[in-house]
Amino acid sequence: MTTHTELSSDQQNPTFAAFPAATILGYPRIGPRRELKKAVESFWAGRIDADQLEETAAALRKSTRDRLVALGLSATDGSVPETFSYYDQVLDAAVTVGAVPERFATEGDLDLAGYFRAARGEGDDAPLEMTKWFDTNYHYLVPEIGPSTTFRLASDRVVRQFAEALADGVTTRPVLVGPVTFLLLSKAADDAPAGFEPLSRLADLLPVYAELLRALAAAGATWVQLDEPGLVTDTIDVPLGDVLTAVTEAYRVLSTELARPERPAILLAAPFGDLQEALPVVAGTDVEALAVDLVKGSAPTSPVRGLESKTLVGGVVDGHNIWRADLSARLEVLEALEGLGAGAVAVGTSTSLQHVPHDVADEPALDPTLASWLAFADQKVAEVVTLAEGLREGREAVHEQLLAASAAVSSRATAAGVSVAAVRERTAALTDGDFHRGPAQERRDAQQERLDLPLLPSTTIGSFPQTVEIRKARAAHAKGELSLEAYEDAMRAEIQQVVELQERIGIDVLVHGEAERNDMVQYFAELLDGFAVTQNGWVQSYGSRCTRPSILWGDVSRPAPMTVRWTEYTQSLTTKPVKGMLTGPVTIMAWSFVRDDIPLGETANQIGLALRDEIADLEAAGIAIIQVDEPALRELLPLRRADQPAYLDWSVGSFTLSTAGVRPDTQIHTHLCYSEFGEVIGAIDALDADVTSIEAARSRMEILPDLNASGFSRGVGPGVYDIHSPRVPSQEEVTELLELAVKSVDPALLWVNPDCGLKTRGYAETTPSLEHLVGAAKAVRSQLG
Ligand code: GLN
Ligand code: ZN
Repeated sequence: MTTHTELSSDQQNPTFAAFPAATILGYPRIGPRRELKKAVESFWAGRIDADQLEETAAALRKSTRDRLVALGLSATDGSVPETFSYYDQVLDAAVTVGAVPERFATEGDLDLAGYFRAARGEGDDAPLEMTKWFDTNYHYLVPEIGPSTTFRLASDRVVRQFAEALADGVTTRPVLVGPVTFLLLSKAADDAPAGFEPLSRLADLLPVYAELLRALAAAGATWVQLDEPGLVTDTIDVPLGDVLTAVTEAYRVLSTELARPERPAILLAAPFGDLQEALPVVAGTDVEALAVDLVKGSAPTSPVRGLESKTLVGGVVDGHNIWRADLSARLEVLEALEGLGAGAVAVGTSTSLQHVPHDVADEPALDPTLASWLAFADQKVAEVVTLAEGLREGREAVHEQLLAASAAVSSRATAAGVSVAAVRERTAALTDGDFHRGPAQERRDAQQERLDLPLLPSTTIGSFPQTVEIRKARAAHAKGELSLEAYEDAMRAEIQQVVELQERIGIDVLVHGEAERNDMVQYFAELLDGFAVTQNGWVQSYGSRCTRPSILWGDVSRPAPMTVRWTEYTQSLTTKPVKGMLTGPVTIMAWSFVRDDIPLGETANQIGLALRDEIADLEAAGIAIIQVDEPALRELLPLRRADQPAYLDWSVGSFTLSTAGVRPDTQIHTHLCYSEFGEVIGAIDALDADVTSIEAARSRMEILPDLNASGFSRGVGPGVYDIHSPRVPSQEEVTELLELAVKSVDPALLWVNPDCGLKTRGYAETTPSLEHLVGAAKAVRSQLG
């Protein structure tokens, strides 16, 4: 006899669908050797045609499936997610539902070339805007939705890819951006009336999702994954009530009205944080499985109504960082889930694995001890599989793996370099005074006296074009074909040319051009203790662009000066002031994989102190202006408003720690890449930099009235040249922008500079653009008298 509580879920609930025991929410799609990037760029360059590109993509999808099955995911039950994309998953969703802006619409459905046109723009047709995907360094394309957007199932790519896998013997789980998140991430199209909310189009969008689900079921799909990370943030400007109503409505249509077997079973995934108020709402829908993030978020503490008919997928393996999991502790979290009354518990990753590299085994140059602490995508799949086995069969069944994981965790906890007494003592001894400079007005006077700059001084953001020759020299040096001496000579020659160019153009504050830097973070990671760099650890940043984040594994310190000789050399070439150029603590952290064993604020202060020493050395070498870039300050902003003050506190603190040690007559600059910084304006003020350069050209100085209204009283350089496009702005255009700027900002505070660094530009456009910039500065200067 069985008691009621012992009834299996299938008996309690006839519609219960068993979700696979182990899965991942997504997998890197760019390929272990960036195969997709190379193929896509070849297609853009016309070297291969669409069929050849499709072939490469299909081969990559196949090798991904084979790999995932070899690592232990089942081939037959929907364990293997299909997250392939040629460019971006949000663009894919937009194309699938026919929401392509008018300027890119074609007769019939978009072909591959049309798809890439929407992503990259063409001629005067601006591409879709690009913005950051939650708190990752991945960027998605922002759909434009208006009252006249006509939704229709405009692409069957998802169905075709499912069929392709099925024919190859693998029943995949297609993954789509969910309808609520899709609309939350969209922006109002240009022709939409003021106040229009894309979410208001939900009822028109849902039938298209329903049609797609039906098509997938007809093709044989048993599971589909709808990603709804839009539910874990309160920073999107839509009232919570509206979001929750939308969730209820969306899943009433997709999971209740449309019932199996007319559709596949639905896994609703909520990566990047806690569902909070949305949890009971989601649990109340008729989706068959729910994936929650138990790395950023935490498990509910008491049973949630509605879970009894669902599989709860515990995202206990971190999809967003590269540390090997403490499997024993993760298993405990999973075991606790079993008390929540869910129909079943399964094991997953907290997010898609698209944010981590493929395989630690692909890093032979990495220190073996460090490598033993790491889990990239493939290792994480194995972790998920092990945890599922442990959950099902008991800890004994995976005893060996648990022991190995614990051993890695303790090796990491005790290894030399992880905790360095001298570093810890230094951060522990910090006092409030270390974070603050003297009064801004006194500094301004002292700096003006020392620098004697004209009104509207001109400068650049730091980098000059990274030419083919620079890259070739660096590659040759890395391969051992060019000696260190010869390489450095080449870099010095490059710097000399950059200085001569700036002097000829008449720029007031010069830079060295950053020729010697492979990347603004990796360059410092290679010179600081506590970091390691990878060879093949590529992660997609956007489209075909990939970055290789450094690994910040230990306490950070600076064994030797990092930039001083280059800056001193540059200053020796000119009588104009040369800006020292550093990357700030927050940006170094944001663009690396950061250790998770100490608070982020402690790591930030360690980097802050290393930079503080560098700045002291630059100052001692006679450098009068030092810029500390923080383009990622806004990027790491927490997804819940309640968490933001604590973040801003440590992030701003680490910046002021790095810069507050200088003399009053040393001028500190900072650079922030973006233009919409209303939300962090207070923090920017708190950075207490003497001069802040920001992006402003594309938005035509939109930010300045706000800045003025906020009482911002420091130097500011709103970008007057949009470096994101090869277009050369005319002198008249730049003059107009400057005239706009002097209307809303005290000219005594105003600097003249481009939007961002010039490293991705060529000299053909850079030189005339800078000439026009300086010409405009002179013109407006003389207008002001
Ligand atoms: N100093 C850097 C450069 O000019 C800043 C780059 C950035 O803001 N991303 O390239
Ligand atoms: Zn920038």
